[in-house]
Amino acid sequence: VAKRLEGKTIVITGASSGIGRSTAFEFARTAPKDLKLILTARRIDTLKEIAADIAKEVGDGVKVLPVQLDVSKPEEIRGFVDGLPAEFKEIDVLVNNAGLVKGVAKAPEILEDDLNVMFNTNVTGLINMTQAILPTFLKRPNGGAGDIINIGSIAGREPYIGGSIYCATKAAVRSFTDSLRKELIATRVRVMEIDPGQVETEFSVVRFYGDKAKADAVYAGCEPLTPDDIAEVVVFVAGRRENVVVADTLIFPSHQA
Ligand code: NDP
Repeated sequence: VAKRLEGKTIVITGASSGIGRSTAFEFARTAPKDLKLILTARRIDTLKEIAADIAKEVGDGVKVLPVQLDVSKPEEIRGFVDGLPAEFKEIDVLVNNAGLVKGVAKAPEILEDDLNVMFNTNVTGLINMTQAILPTFLKRPNGGAGDIINIGSIAGREPYIGGSIYCATKAAVRSFTDSLRKELIATRVRVMEIDPGQVETEFSVVRFYGDKAKADAVYAGCEPLTPDDIAEVVVFVAGRRENVVVADTLIFPSHQA
């Protein structure tokens, strides 16, 4: 796997926390030679700390570029690739991970702001990132090459009461991923999706508008996955032989079945 990932340039959205942050470390640990990581999120200071921590752990064989990017803002995505330093422009892997849930509410009570932020981030942001990076993949010889790894959710397959908007966003991700995979079937661009169940991250803190007690209560009496559990799968799918597409992975803690 290290050999196959060697020399690759990888973009991770939502890399400042949780699954995205763990994925950055997992790539760096797995392929600590000539790897380039572009870490994006809104919290640039956190990304810079992560970059420094990765360098401390694996040394300077991995080049890390922290980039402030709000995926819900199309104008920021439009300038993203052009704004990269030349040595980071040849992107090989896009991990579309940035995402969030806001609130727990039945349909009549859903706040307009929450509705918009979930769709703009989870769906439009993911699609805009994909559109921004696909041209780099498609200009490669023999129809193109590159990996798009979308982080969906079990919620996109199994809707739950109080989460209709979040579930709808993740169902949209699933549908977009499947369509794109079919569109690109004649190329060497792999389009893959990983759908986690419960993972303990800042996700629930965001869901409850920063209320840590409510967030912790979600995990009472169960053992959620760790972000590393998902990161290992991301690196696994990206590290397969180029003819192998791990198209669709559902991963959840044993209690959640
Ligand atoms: P975290 O809240 O820990 O991480 C979310 C990341 O997304 C952060 O780095 C955050 O960075 C980033 N983000 C949020 N909004 C934006 C934005 N507008 N632009 C750019 N980055 C943004 O949660 P997780 O690690 O758990 O979530 C990662 C993905 O996993 C999400 O897509 C989520 O839906 C999915 N998922 C999570 C599950 C769970 O139980 N935790 C279960 C199933 C799926 P910043 O605030 O700095 O911008």
